[in-house]
Amino acid sequence: LGATETKEFQAETKKLLDIVANSLYTDKEVFLREIVSNASDALEKRRYAEVTGSAEEGAGEMAISITTDSEAGTLTITDSGIGMSRDDLVANLGTIASSGSKRFVQQLADTAGDGASAASANVIGQFGVGFYSVFMVADHVTVYSRQHGAEAGHCWRSSGDGAYELSEASNVAAGTKIVLTLKEEEKRFASRWAVEANLRKYSSFVGFPVSVDGERANTIEALWTKAKSEVSDEEHAEFFRFIAQDFSDPRYTLHFAADAPLAIKALFYIPESHPEKWGMARMEPGVSLYSRRVLIQPRSDKLLPDWMRFVKGVVDSEDVPLNISRESMQDSALMRKLSSVLSRRVLKFLQERGDERAKKDEEGYLAFFREFGQFIKEGVCADFELKSEAAKLLRFESTAAEPDTLVSLDEYIARMVPEQEDTIYYLVEVLLLTSTIDEFAMANLMSYAGKELVSAEKAKLQVEPDAETPAISAEDAGALCTWLAEAVPLVSEASLSSRLVDSPAIVVGHESAAMRRMMGMVEAGRA
Ligand code: ADP
Ligand code: MG
Repeated sequence: LGATETKEFQAETKKLLDIVANSLYTDKEVFLREIVSNASDALEKRRYAEVTGSAEEGAGEMAISITTDSEAGTLTITDSGIGMSRDDLVANLGTIASSGSKRFVQQLADTAGDGASAASANVIGQFGVGFYSVFMVADHVTVYSRQHGAEAGHCWRSSGDGAYELSEASNVAAGTKIVLTLKEEEKRFASRWAVEANLRKYSSFVGFPVSVDGERANTIEALWTKAKSEVSDEEHAEFFRFIAQDFSDPRYTLHFAADAPLAIKALFYIPESHPEKWGMARMEPGVSLYSRRVLIQPRSDKLLPDWMRFVKGVVDSEDVPLNISRESMQDSALMRKLSSVLSRRVLKFLQERGDERAKKDEEGYLAFFREFGQFIKEGVCADFELKSEAAKLLRFESTAAEPDTLVSLDEYIARMVPEQEDTIYYLVEVLLLTSTIDEFAMANLMSYAGKELVSAEKAKLQVEPDAETPAISAEDAGALCTWLAEAVPLVSEASLSSRLVDSPAIVVGHESAAMRRMMGMVEAGRA
């Protein structure tokens, strides 16, 4: 074997290493995610090379295995991926390869002269620093690597302090083996339990088998990467129960892929029920972001609007960099684009479920709406961008509809009489708003399909007087009103109205119906 050669890290890399190793980086556990994701990338590259014929079929399983030795404080991560040649080791581990690290160093160059200031250390958490993140926890790192079909393997070794050693090595299996010797104070990361917990959190759906001390750690497949027709209902149910920590089957499943404007693979589920109706705490967002099966943001609040928090699932977009940063303008724009595509897709899906013309399981949709309508109404109230699309999902009771069925605003419009012109009335004999939030939702929506939404309770409906029926005199009317207010116990005031057509009188409240119900709830609470 050749002699060991000592090489200096590229100047920028040194700077980066210094900051990584010395900063108070709060999420040190992410080093494993970075290493496992590199292993997964290496396996993807091998698969690609074999599929495209640029490499021979390598021997052995495509897998990642992790072994722990908590006594020695070592952690070994082995993959049978593409492997690295000597030049690759120099180029990939000796210089800054990852886009996150590059951006980080760029940021340092932009903000500070010498870079390694305390302020710089604080921003490190916003960047994924790839391979170098191992130096947050490792005293030194040894990398053994060999490409499939290559004669010689190599060993790369560094303590992250400015230089690394490189030598040829024998008995190196094809692929890459990384041995982390943990710092004394970070040995907790070498326990099998810690590794398993870490994998569950960040790498459950890596698309290759991952084992810890010989036992398979990831049982769940990356279902969203499969073709829609290849996933069974039972697999969906299992996956849904896993990610939503639910016990039932999903009510709706939306599995889709897109290439434009972004490459997206997504699996969305809508559960049977939700905890908020029991007065439990507000739910967290339910969709996690992956990039090529590596978890980027668990339960991300950037993927769907908050009112869609009842949607559970995963989104995988290879257009999203692993080290996506909240601070970067470019990344924020990308996330907004992604969010717009996803939320519109969810809306379209639900609109289709509820599309009575297509008669697609209308009963099922009504059951969905009865369970989740409050979220839709929240969207109508709060989501400036999507409120009119969300309004298409609304359903209401109506006197014109059969009891126990609900109508959409579109159905209502289809049945409107010409006298109504451009106004959708809500109250009795029109749309019945029965839950407290309804009225707020309607007031926020203000109009639908170009028609004004008006509470019939509040409306000053003008009905043309009937010339053939003689009106009573103003004097008689006034006397009648006074008498009514005195003689009828619950009436506090009586007045003349021009809105009645077939009835001589109507009883109205001085607050809105929703207000009365709220007061009723308060009263009931006191009793
Ligand atoms: P990134 O993954 O963003 O490219 P990293 O710092 O995580 O950046 O890794 C740097 C480079 O090192 C990778 O791009 C890859 O070429 C190489 N590399 C790291 N780990 C492995 C591995 N297990 N097998 C093969 N190549 C690897
Ligand atoms: Mg990486």
